[in-house]
Amino acid sequence: KGYIDRAPQITDMELKITNISTSELVETMEDGAVMVKNLYLSCDPYMRGRMRDFHASYIPPFRPDSVMEGFGVSRVLHSKNEVFKCGDVVTGMTGWEEYSVIHNTAQLRKIEQDPDSGNDPIPLSYYVGLLGMPGFTAYAGFYEVCSPKTGDSVYVSAASGAVGQLVGQLAKLHGCYVVGSAGTSHKVDLLKNKLGYDDAFNYKTEPDLNAALRRYFPGGIDIYFENVGGPMLDAVLLNMAIHGRIAVCGMVSQHGMSSWQGIHNLQTLIAKRVRMQGFLQSDYLHLFPRFLEDVAAYYMQGKIVYIENMNEGLESAPAAFVALFSGGNVGKQIVCVATE
Ligand code: NDP
Repeated sequence: KGYIDRAPQITDMELKITNISTSELVETMEDGAVMVKNLYLSCDPYMRGRMRDFHASYIPPFRPDSVMEGFGVSRVLHSKNEVFKCGDVVTGMTGWEEYSVIHNTAQLRKIEQDPDSGNDPIPLSYYVGLLGMPGFTAYAGFYEVCSPKTGDSVYVSAASGAVGQLVGQLAKLHGCYVVGSAGTSHKVDLLKNKLGYDDAFNYKTEPDLNAALRRYFPGGIDIYFENVGGPMLDAVLLNMAIHGRIAVCGMVSQHGMSSWQGIHNLQTLIAKRVRMQGFLQSDYLHLFPRFLEDVAAYYMQGKIVYIENMNEGLESAPAAFVALFSGGNVGKQIVCVATE
């Protein structure tokens, strides 16, 4: 609740109990709004950035004392909107609460095939993971920013997370050699034995990241999908191949730092003619329909899998969110608030 300056200080967040009946909520609805029951809430690292007022951010900070907002999957209970009907399942920005009134319905998307109908085996929670913002980040980042070619050597950090696990699988489908890193032996095992990575390592037990990367990429890294920043990025810079590409998706290790860790090896970009490009998934939204079609098809055909870390109950949301910054999540972090 409120502003929190440094990630290590986040130990708990306050849950505010507001006793308001759904009929009272309905009375607050303006024309065009919907009232939803929240089913699944998404915990995403970018939300940490909204917990402080940072001038160079691309998204406004949360307002202290207001309900946390984030991506979710929800069922419409009451509608004053022509597009969304009672019973529809929708995904988009909602509140970290059991019921929400959503006025900005332009950002909502109807989940057309409701798995409850028995026709669609895609779990509803995937619409904030594999088929939601993180999945789209992987898709847009890999195809639009990495300029992948068959046979490229690809390195993914935070490789078992919501974004990383799809990047690795897309790279494999593209015919690349793919290595990922993660922070536990269990995650490394998942990378190699479930997510199809060619190889993987635990960056926390490697005494020398530079040496580790040299071992996995003797010919250099053609593509680095950057999720963590800090010392990992510095080590990668020493191991890029000529004309390599670095897609800067995120720097989760730097969230909550009052000053960012310095990067020392940027000069290698020149000699190796490396292209390093930051990106936001929101710049590529025109590709979203194609992404949904492609990735849903890959999933249905059994070409990709997706790992979720599902916490039960709204009260588990603060701890689930905080765990993102110590690697407590195994796969996409979701909070299940209700199942129907
Ligand atoms: P993840 O599911 O990967 O969860 C975060 C993971 O980061 C943790 O599980 C942990 O994995 C790793 N991590 C946490 N702290 C550190 C640290 N200090 N050093 C190294 N690794 C750490 O998150 P997402 O997949 O949702 O997000 C991945 C990245 O993508 C983030 O940086 C996020 O901000 C970014 N992002 C960018 C978007 C864009 O449009 N550019 C959109 C969405 C996400 P481990 O156990 O491996 O350490």
